[in-house]
Order: sequence, then structure tokens, then C-alpha cells
Amino acid sequence: MRAVVFNGPFDVKVVTKPTPRIREPTDAILKASSTALCGSDLRYYRGHQKATPGFVCGHETVEHIVALGDSVKNHQIGDHVVVPFSTSCGGCFYCNQGESSRCLKAALLGCITPTFSLDGGQAECLLVTNVTSSLVKALSMIAEDLLVLMAGVFPTGYFAASRFLKNLPEKQQEDTVAVVLGCGPVGICAIASALHFTNNKAKVFAVDSIPERLEAAKKLGAIPINLLDNPIEKIKEASSGRGADVVMEVVGHVDALAPSAKFLVWECTMNRSASQALLSTRKM
Ligand SMILES: [Zn+2]
Ligand SMILES: [Zn+2]
Repeated sequence: MRAVVFNGPFDVKVVTKPTPRIREPTDAILKASSTALCGSDLRYYRGHQKATPGFVCGHETVEHIVALGDSVKNHQIGDHVVVPFSTSCGGCFYCNQGESSRCLKAALLGCITPTFSLDGGQAECLLVTNVTSSLVKALSMIAEDLLVLMAGVFPTGYFAASRFLKNLPEKQQEDTVAVVLGCGPVGICAIASALHFTNNKAKVFAVDSIPERLEAAKKLGAIPINLLDNPIEKIKEASSGRGADVVMEVVGHVDALAPSAKFLVWECTMNRSASQALLSTRKM
């Protein structure tokens, strides 16, 4: 099969590799339907993050099942499935809490470290383990180009927003000031989710330095602020001086974490909201 392999910064190649085979009765072999790039792929490609060369890239992928291990009963050959960026066992402490992305036996797809990782989805075929609890059947009502966002991009933004904005009482929905720092694809999904969870009542600020991204955020109903245009003052004004109630740091880099806390902490004290921001970031 052909696959996109990472050889080092700015060096990926399409190579021919052996097609993967079932190794365990809980495995599946999948055939690519759609795959997408993610900011995480760009980080190691650009050399911003160290990565061990030799793996197949990609963890945003939609596939068809072409072979199944004997113990898999909830999927069929031919099923169209979304593959989350990490597998989950379905039985550990975190899986039982519904936090499958923290699974103690997770394997990451197309990952920078060889331990606990599987080759990624930018290949004609893909081996996935623990498929009973890992694969998600695709809904036919969702177009393929949107479906590929369901692997990692949309859920990352959705769950960041849901952690603090889901099921808020109506009054609290109106009073909430939320900030999304970073308006790339995940940030846009976080904004859409934040507005969804608050019935478009919360003030959702979108902070970025790229005008096109701010425009996309505005179209969804967020209040755009250029990063260079004093966002701290604007958010402080919008929240009667208290700061944002929730900050979602969606840049995905540790350097963005400290600035995100500044939207919340006005007098050098770590308030409740700052803790929420840090928790929200960790959750993602
Ligand atoms: Zn991703
Ligand atoms: Zn687990």
C-alpha cells in the first residue's frame, strides 16, 4: 500500500509499505475514505516538536472496514467509520468515566513517539486496535468532507466548550463571558459549540491575529478581537471588570497557556476562572 511517512522536519514522502494485517481478535483493518491534516501534524513537520521518524502521518481520518478480528461484534465489514485520534479500551477507569481520550491503554494514531502509537491514517490502509470501543459508525446524513472533522477537530472544540458551558441555567447562559484563544479549525468548532450550549446567549469572544479567522468567528456569532488590539481590556469591560468566566486555549501550544490566563486574572490572583481555563486546556 502507499502511505505518507515522516522522515524528519520538512521531509515527508509517499512510500510503498506492507499492507497491515489483523494481529489481535480486537483489531480491524480499514481502507481510507477521507483524511485531513491537523495542526498537530504541522508541528512535527515544521520541526517545532521533536518526533521519531518513520511513522505514517495523520490522525484525522474516515475509513471503511475491510477486515475484522474475530471478537469484534458491533462492527461489520463494509461499515463506514470515523476513527478517533486515539483508541480506547472501553474498560479502564477513564473509559468508564466516559473520558476515553484519557484511556490508560490508548494508542495514538500517527504519533510522534513510537510507544503506544499506531501508524496514522494517511495511507491506503490502517490497522486499528480495540475497535469495539474505538471506532464510531459514520452517520450517512453528514457529508464526507464534514465527517472527517469528527475524528479530532470538532470533538476537541466541542468537549472543551461542553466542560463548562453545557447545561448552564438560563440566567447563567446570559451572564457568561467566554473567550476562545485561537480561531483555527478547532477554535471555530469551540466557538460554535460554546454558542450552541448557551443558546447563543453567552458573550463569546474570539481572539486571533489572522483577519480571515476572526471574520469566520464573527459569522458564527462570536465577538472578534485582534490579539494585537488590547483584548484584555475589552474582555474586562464586557465582564464588569471580573474577567472571563471560561477561557478555551485552542492554539494547542504551551506558550499560549500563560496569555490565556491573563484574560482571567486581573490582580495577580488565581481566581476560579483561571483554574477553569487550565482545566479546560488539559481536558483538550
Ligand atoms: Zn488532530
Ligand atoms: Zn480505557
